[in-house]
Amino acid sequence: MGGHGGDRGLAARFLTRGRPLSCAAVDLAERLAFDRAHLWHPYTALVDPQPVELVVAAQGVRLRLADGRELVDGMSSWWAAIHGYRHPVLDAAVRAQLERMAHVMFGGLTHEPAIALGERLLALLPPPLRHVFFCDSGSVAVEVAIKMALQYWRGQGEMQRTRLLTVRGGYHGDTFAAMSVCDPDTGMHSLWRGVVAEQLFAERPRCRFGAVWEPDAMDDVARLLEVHGPTIAAVVLEPVVQGAGGMWFYHPRYLAELRRLCDASGALLVFDEIATGFGRTGTLFALEHAGVTPDVLCVGKALTGGYLSLAATVASTQVASGIARGAHPQLMHGPTFMANPLACAVAAASIDLLAASPWQAGVARIERQLRAELEPARRSPAVADVRVLGAIGVVEMRTPVDLRAAQRHFVARGTWVRPFGRLVYLMPPFIIEEPDLRRLTDAVVELACRGPCGA
Ligand SMILES: *Cc1c(COP(=O)(O)O)cnc(C)c1O
Repeated sequence: MGGHGGDRGLAARFLTRGRPLSCAAVDLAERLAFDRAHLWHPYTALVDPQPVELVVAAQGVRLRLADGRELVDGMSSWWAAIHGYRHPVLDAAVRAQLERMAHVMFGGLTHEPAIALGERLLALLPPPLRHVFFCDSGSVAVEVAIKMALQYWRGQGEMQRTRLLTVRGGYHGDTFAAMSVCDPDTGMHSLWRGVVAEQLFAERPRCRFGAVWEPDAMDDVARLLEVHGPTIAAVVLEPVVQGAGGMWFYHPRYLAELRRLCDASGALLVFDEIATGFGRTGTLFALEHAGVTPDVLCVGKALTGGYLSLAATVASTQVASGIARGAHPQLMHGPTFMANPLACAVAAASIDLLAASPWQAGVARIERQLRAELEPARRSPAVADVRVLGAIGVVEMRTPVDLRAAQRHFVARGTWVRPFGRLVYLMPPFIIEEPDLRRLTDAVVELACRGPCGA
């Protein structure tokens, strides 16, 4: 090493490995201080950021922190880690692909992992969905879906079809076109006025999943489609379960009725199954609750079992050939890391693993346990609603949850749960066993019932 302070610093840091705990603790504080000063985390400020925990490993449903504590994961790393962490089959799939190549460009080239994943996806989806666009994140998959819809109408010479219609309470990602169809309130559209495209918003589908169907539940969206029909390129929404926009479960009949309305007005129908795809709601895709096929479908999150960032936008033959008939037949999108082979290989392995596992029984068991164990929270005057669907359990509070206090609470109870707004919710890996799930539900109910009903 030369006389450079930077090199000495680096060497010193390497030497800290394997030191006794007291030094490791100093090192941990130093690592967290760097993180705090220099790294943005999701939706956080650099001024007085929320504290973070340092994870050093994860296995099964457990996250291991730098100080040795273990947390049962109630979030599946935001819907993704359905098989849990370090699954031997998925680890092996990544390793095997790494022996061949980590990445290669997709322009002018193709590879077996992409073909194998494409085959598997199409085998799972309804027949009209035939054409797959691989990209790197859910937000980009939604951008691509919107681009497909707009390009489709340009291809048909209907240049006036440029608007999107969606429902309130949705979440579709953080890039600008995706943001435009997020809920205007939780999506902070007031902050972005003049910058984010102004789309059409129907009321949140108010008829709950499992409730008796109310025919007037379609009135608002039907009115918007009637008034604005010829300018609408597509209706974009999350089928059955709205995720980060409000964790709301609505009646599948809404989708069947919406399909009819779209067919009548010509608008394309885009389903965002980035959160719901791959079993989370009890069916492989949420669209199966309604028996409805969209024109374009987005998947992401659990696609790779939570291993790598990958998403896909799948279009019907009608949409794909409609784009191809236009004056610009090329779909104008092409990410650098499109169809990354490592991600495609692990995604194909994850789908095979799901297919070979008794996931329906697992999700049904989780659903029963969530229902039984979260329901008591309803007794608390602080709780507005408790709802469960598939492997998703939600306790909606009457007032916003203090995120810092909640994080301290959950970590102290050996759990990892991250509420947002008024929502405390669980969506654990499908492999979670009863005692671990009980640890999660106990911690949620304890938080929800603190104060007024805590006695
Ligand atoms: C998470 C999510 C997205 C965005 O995906 P990213 O990978 O975070 O870009 C879009 N739609 C839905 C329904 C999601 O849950």
